[in-house]
Amino acid sequence: MFDKILIANRGEIALRVVRAAREMGIATVAVHSTADSDAMHVRMADESICIGPPPSTESYLKIPAIISACEITGAQAIHPGYGFLSENANFVQIVEDHGLTFIGPTAEHIRLMGDKITAKETMKALGVPCVPGSDGGVPDVETARRLGGEIGYPVIIKATAGGGGRGMKVAQTEADIERAFQTARAEAKAAFGNDEVYIEKYLTTPRHIEVQVFGDGKGQAVHLAERDCSLQRRHQKVLEEAPGPVITPEERARIGKVCADAVARINYIGAGTIEFLYENGEFFFIEMNTRLQVEHPVTEAIFGVDLVREQIRVAAGEPLSFGQDDLVLNGHAIEVRINAEKLPNFSPCPGDISHFHAPGGLGVRMDSALYDGYRIPPYYDSLIGKLIVHGRDRPEALARLNRALGELIVDGVDTTVPLFHALLQEPDVLNGTYNIHWLEKWLEDNLGA
Ligand code: ADP
Repeated sequence: MFDKILIANRGEIALRVVRAAREMGIATVAVHSTADSDAMHVRMADESICIGPPPSTESYLKIPAIISACEITGAQAIHPGYGFLSENANFVQIVEDHGLTFIGPTAEHIRLMGDKITAKETMKALGVPCVPGSDGGVPDVETARRLGGEIGYPVIIKATAGGGGRGMKVAQTEADIERAFQTARAEAKAAFGNDEVYIEKYLTTPRHIEVQVFGDGKGQAVHLAERDCSLQRRHQKVLEEAPGPVITPEERARIGKVCADAVARINYIGAGTIEFLYENGEFFFIEMNTRLQVEHPVTEAIFGVDLVREQIRVAAGEPLSFGQDDLVLNGHAIEVRINAEKLPNFSPCPGDISHFHAPGGLGVRMDSALYDGYRIPPYYDSLIGKLIVHGRDRPEALARLNRALGELIVDGVDTTVPLFHALLQEPDVLNGTYNIHWLEKWLEDNLGA
């Protein structure tokens, strides 16, 4: 096992990793930009190193600075968290070339799944059901038009290098196809430097269901059921829950096994998420994320396991601490993402936290890097905390979420907390009867956003 690991991230996820490492008796090194000198992850880690100025391209994404920080402190492995360098295959290669261990999948698997076209081809070959669409890239408008006719409208044009909901355009009818194709391509070029796009059937009322998988890199893998992340704004998740409110135990076992078998066959190592759209009882693969997800705590709650601990274990060559039969699903968990944003437009709202009080009590977990007097810098993501609740069933989890939100105090900046208070009044949220478009429509109807 490692003696010391470096965490190439900031905010709540850096704290999350410090906590797992500390329970395992592993020392931690935090890295930070000059804007984060007073950040909680710096205070909580055993050591810290400043790696550059505020912009993340000059600090949290600066590979040579991160490798140097490992060399200076003697850290043997790097946990990337989510975002930043977590899905950068080139970084993984450099880490390994320096005799260090990357706590995550291999560069090869990150590359394979980072390109959505090869990801889909690979998954299809491994028996995972996919959204009907083009086999490979779509080179021009004529091909897009022909495929649109074959697949049937509406269709969606997506960037193969896509992420964060960018580079996706829907064509409702053939009349839209040219514009959708050109815009998706231009957006993909601007955002990812790669304008390759593909086309797939646009599902009109699906839910976003994702399966958590975990591999040991030696041909063994398990699944940890699914999360429902259908409440989204601009393709970004806002609230997540596990298990999925409409997934039956039989469906769970079936899709879980398909996913675990698929990653076992490629000797996948570490945590991964296989994302599906789910409509009329059918699962359609859209992409795989080769990292820990923001919403992993809901899975931890219902299975009572520490996924970061398992990531560190398998990276050090140890076996997973559980097999499929040890994983018994217990109760229901919900996470809400607390962002420093001003409603109704969700505009970023950095600033000084005059008072912070985290909720507590049975079944409540608050993952946040806030403290009284903390100044949220304007340079990074607006996620400032995650409130996770666990109950014996969904109604209990909802009641607990309501109670915990009432205890939470974040003074000094606007946050998304009022949104969750309002959502907890909605019958569709209480009954779990929503799909990926529900929240956008609700925001339009209720906030005029
Ligand atoms: P990204 O990597 O940018 O997050 P994804 O492929 O994961 O992109 O898709 C993000 C979201 O976009 C999905 O959760 C869903 O809301 C929507 N989406 C993607 N593909 C389709 C599709 N074929 N039909 C309907 N909605 C889709």
